[in-house]
Amino acid sequence: MREDAIQIAYIAAAVLFIFGLKGMSSPRTARRGIIWAGVGMLVATAITFATPEMGNFLWMTPALLIGGAVAYVAARRVAMTDMPQMVAIYNGMGGGAAALIAAAEFMRPETMSASFAVLGIAGALIGSVSFSGSMIAFAKLQGIIKKSFLFPGQNIVNLLVLAASVVLAVIIALQHTGTMGGNETLTLIAFFVVSLLYGVLMTLPIGGADMPVVISLYNALTGLAVGFEGYVLGNGALIIAGIVVGAAGTLLTQLMARAMNRSLGNVLFAGFGAAGGQELTDIEGTMKETSPDDAAITMAFGQKVIIVPGYGMAVAQAQHKVWELAKLLGERGIQVKFAIHPVAGRMPGHMNVLLAEAGVPYDMIFDLDEINGEFPTADAAIVIGANDVVNPAARDDPGSPIYGMPILDVDKAQQAFVIKRGRGAGFAGIENKLFYADNTRMVYGDAQEVASKLIAGVKKV
Ligand code: NDP
Repeated sequence: MREDAIQIAYIAAAVLFIFGLKGMSSPRTARRGIIWAGVGMLVATAITFATPEMGNFLWMTPALLIGGAVAYVAARRVAMTDMPQMVAIYNGMGGGAAALIAAAEFMRPETMSASFAVLGIAGALIGSVSFSGSMIAFAKLQGIIKKSFLFPGQNIVNLLVLAASVVLAVIIALQHTGTMGGNETLTLIAFFVVSLLYGVLMTLPIGGADMPVVISLYNALTGLAVGFEGYVLGNGALIIAGIVVGAAGTLLTQLMARAMNRSLGNVLFAGFGAAGGQELTDIEGTMKETSPDDAAITMAFGQKVIIVPGYGMAVAQAQHKVWELAKLLGERGIQVKFAIHPVAGRMPGHMNVLLAEAGVPYDMIFDLDEINGEFPTADAAIVIGANDVVNPAARDDPGSPIYGMPILDVDKAQQAFVIKRGRGAGFAGIENKLFYADNTRMVYGDAQEVASKLIAGVKKV
C-alpha cells in the first residue's frame, strides 16, 4: 500500500516534469512550466523520505538544506549573462550525482544482474564525463581557464583514454555479475579516474562560440546517466526525468549546432573557436562615428526600422529603453521589427526572454529566417550590443572561425547603426567588417544610455 503510494507520487512527479517542459517551450508559458517542474522535483524529493528502507536522515537533511540554500542564493544573485555557467555547473552536478549512485551500487559486495551492471556502469561513465566536462566548461565561461588547449594527435589521445574507460567499465560489469575476479575497488577507482579525465580532455580543446553546444550536449548526457541509474535504483521518476532531459538536451544540441551551421562532430573534434580571427589589416575602411541625435533623425524619417539586439543589450539591461524607443517610432507610423539570431546573447532564447520581460509583443519579434530578406528594404537597422551574429565574415570569409554560421544581414540595410561601447570584440573574439562598412555608423556608449539618447533625439524631431 505504502509502496503503491510512493510509486504513484513518483509518476505524478514525472508527469509534472513533462508538463513543465512543455510549458517551457514558449516564453508565454515558461514561468508556469518552471513552477510545475519545480513542484515535481519537490514531490519526488519529499516522497523519497517515505521509502521503507530509507535511513541516514541525519546526513540527508543537512545535505538537502545546505545544497538548497547555496542554490537559492546563487540563483537569485546570478546575472542573466552568467546563466550558461550556472547551467553548466548544475548540469555537471546531475552527472556527478548519477556517477555517485553507480559508485555506491558497485561498492556493494553482492553480484547483480547483467542489465543492472551494464546500465549502471554506462550511467557512471556518462555521468563522470558530463561532470568533469561541465566543470571545465564552467571554468572556461567564467574566464578561469582562458585558453583552448590544442596539441597534435589530441583526438587520438582522447580516443585512447575513452577506450581505457570503456575497457574498465566492461571489467567492472563482468566482476559484478560474478563472471570475472580481481580487486573490484581498485578497478572502480581506476575507472572513475580515467572517465573523469576523459571529460576534461574532451572539453579543453573546445572554445569560442561552441561552448553553448557543448553545455547542451552535457545536459543530454546527464539526462541519460540519470535515466540509467533510475533503472538501477528501480525509480520510475528518475527514469522518466532522465529520458526527458536526455531527449530535450539532444534536440537542443542539434538545434544549436544547426543554428551555427556546424555538425556535432565538427564542434567536438575540430578545435573550433581556438583559431584566431580576421586581422584588422585585412579590413578596408574606418569605423565612422555618429551622434545619437543624427541616428535618431535617420530613424524618425524612415519607414521601416529593424532592431537587432545582442549580448550588449543584456549586459546594459537596455531592453526597457529599447522597447520605449520602438513604441515611439511606432507612434510615428514607422514599421519596427525585432530580429533575433538563435545564438544572440549567452543562452538559447536569451533575447526573447529579455524582450518578453520588457513587454515587446511576440508579433514584432522575428527569427533569422523570417527577417533576413527584409534588411534591404529597411531604412535603418539598429544593432544594440550585437557583434558575432551580424559579422559578414561568417558569410563571406572561409578563413573565419565563424564561417558558415548564418548571420542577420544587417550590412544589407540602407543604413546600419551599431551601438557599442568601443572596439570590444564579441564572444568569438574576432574583428567585424560590418563596423567598417560605408553604410554603417557607430554610436558609441553603453546600450542603455544610448537608447535613452535616441529616445530623446526622436522626441526632438
Ligand atoms: P557578442 O558577444 O558577439 O558581442 C557583444 C558586443 O556587445 C561586444 O562586441 C561588446 O562591444 C558589446 N557590449 C558589451 N557590453 C555592452 C554594453 N553595456 N553596452 C553596449 N554594448 C556592449 O554578442 P552577440 O549577441 O552578437 O553574439 C553572441 C555570441 O555569444 C555568439 O558568438 C554566440 O555563439 C555566443 N554564445 C551564445 C550563446 C547562446 O546560447 N546564445 C551561449 C554562449 C555563447 P564593446 O565591448 O565594444 O561594448
